[in-house]
Amino acid sequence: QKAEWEKLKDEQTVTKDGKQLITAANIGTPDDVTGATDNGAEAVGLFRSEFLYMNSAELPTEDQQFAAYKRALEGMKGKQIVVRTMDIGGDKHLPYLPLPEEMNPFLGYRAIRISLDRQDIFRTQLRALLRASNYGNLAIMFPMIATVKEFKQARAIYDEERAKLIKAGTPVADKIEVGMMMEIPAAAMIADKLAKYADFFSIGTNDLIQYSMAADRGNERVSYLYQPYNPSILRLVKRVIDASHAEGKWTGMCGEAAGDPVMVPLLLGMGLDEYSMSATSILKIRSLMRRLDTKDMKALTDKALTEAETNQEVIDLVKAHTRA
Ligand code: PEP
Ligand code: MG
Repeated sequence: QKAEWEKLKDEQTVTKDGKQLITAANIGTPDDVTGATDNGAEAVGLFRSEFLYMNSAELPTEDQQFAAYKRALEGMKGKQIVVRTMDIGGDKHLPYLPLPEEMNPFLGYRAIRISLDRQDIFRTQLRALLRASNYGNLAIMFPMIATVKEFKQARAIYDEERAKLIKAGTPVADKIEVGMMMEIPAAAMIADKLAKYADFFSIGTNDLIQYSMAADRGNERVSYLYQPYNPSILRLVKRVIDASHAEGKWTGMCGEAAGDPVMVPLLLGMGLDEYSMSATSILKIRSLMRRLDTKDMKALTDKALTEAETNQEVIDLVKAHTRA
């Protein structure tokens, strides 16, 4: 099987009926780009930029960040990299940025909430990204967006920094897509509104499931509630994809579910455009997709969404349908 997957390294991701999709890698540092391309990644769907901050003894400077983003973009040789702006808070801490003690850190001061509050940090990151944009195909996304107002604020700050750099004569790529993570149920419910402003969505199932089920993603006692195929989650995912397509935008997924062989047939059926996962899963998933027909998967997904009541029933349906 490994040998068969290996042959797909330089192949595009195409379903049995010829639908073209993107299989992409999640990375944490520019060093991970080699692993992504070695495993045939067609893009980086999630660059978790917080690792630049976590691997540093102090706030990384604009130049340090610029160098890291530039190196990653050059390594991808024109293939898109979606950099997510700093997602600190929750379970990720910076020794040099003490955060207030909180009862519920995952519901607290984290990600875009910090960036909108600490605009000095946010603007520095955006400038580094904009300067690096000339060296490849960059897209930017904001983590943990809950409301239209947050997205508009973040985007307005981005637009300001962009305009300032251009005015100063700094080369900046013409087109940089600016999107958002879909990982909060409230945002998924107003995906139609957000799709007017965001260039794309990337569904973060790790957090979307945690927040939908009200079950801490790191707490083993409630891990049975981590149910990616639960019809509640599937409905949210479908809603987000449909809303983006209605506005002519695209949706990816960068949570664990995007590389899960049971989830992928359902995502194909819902029309998900980009699948971003750990690099080592890419060829296996590409191979699976080549054996699946999107029309069949749509019928399967419709069935899962209308008939199934539980996570397990969806698993059984997928297995019966795909003989997986
Ligand atoms: C997610 O929430 O699904 C996601 C991809 O982001 P992270 O795992 O970094 O929170
Ligand atoms: Mg997340």
